[in-house]
Amino acid sequence: MRPIGVHTSIKNTLLNSIAEAVELKCETFQIFLHSPQVWQIPEFEQNTIDEFKRQRQFYGLNPLIVHASYLINLISSTPKTISSSRYLLKREVQTADLLNADYYVIHLKDNKDMEKEEIYSKTKEGFNKIDVTVSCKILLENTAKSKITANIADLFETFERVRTDNVAGLCIDTCHLFAAGYDLTKDEGIERFTEEIRKYGDFGLIKLIHLNDSKTPAGSGIDRHEHIGKGFIGEDGFKKFLKIKELSSVPLILETPKKSLQDDVKNLLSVRNILRTLES
Ligand SMILES: [Zn+2]
Ligand SMILES: [Zn+2]
Repeated sequence: MRPIGVHTSIKNTLLNSIAEAVELKCETFQIFLHSPQVWQIPEFEQNTIDEFKRQRQFYGLNPLIVHASYLINLISSTPKTISSSRYLLKREVQTADLLNADYYVIHLKDNKDMEKEEIYSKTKEGFNKIDVTVSCKILLENTAKSKITANIADLFETFERVRTDNVAGLCIDTCHLFAAGYDLTKDEGIERFTEEIRKYGDFGLIKLIHLNDSKTPAGSGIDRHEHIGKGFIGEDGFKKFLKIKELSSVPLILETPKKSLQDDVKNLLSVRNILRTLES
């Protein structure tokens, strides 16, 4: 069965993320290592790390995904931002590895005034500065609007141009895919998505799916997540998307709006109900 989970909070303690995942009966979960809007990254105490690993193993939560913070900009025109970004990237990837995370997911920055070649070389240099090869694999996520990661052809090309021993796969976010113009509510949209993967890449590189509905219409270029079934993708769109057989065992992580755990309860139920209709 494919693992399903949500983004959980490490508020107060790292262990809170596991408590949430367990309460929600998730098989997998995703976390930030710190507030994603700040540069500071705390150092976890060894006994917290040990307890985190022990509990995760006990509850059998796999895979564990760490989401990169949003400040990381490996192509900034400000040298200080580049050096802070390289440092934070390295620290986050190493910390994710210390926690035995399977994947570290990052959205790459685009710059409309910069040529693709320069973006690739600066991004790759940032990844090379990680220096060590870790077991935690970095996944590049598709985005709603970008010349390097919004279209499937561009996403695969970018991956090929910046890949290293650590950068080893991709994450597909349904809200971003839809906003980038792949209309998942129509058979043509689904076919365009799967045909482009076959033509420009490989299904095997897609290691994770962020399952989110969209508050904005197909092709809007705007990234606004909505509850599963309540947005423009809707239940029928997810039925079509989740039917793609080449992706049928790829883990699903929800990053849907969350005022309380009840929101996750409802969204997880919606996903499990849709999957059940596909089985029968
Ligand atoms: Zn996402
Ligand atoms: Zn998003």
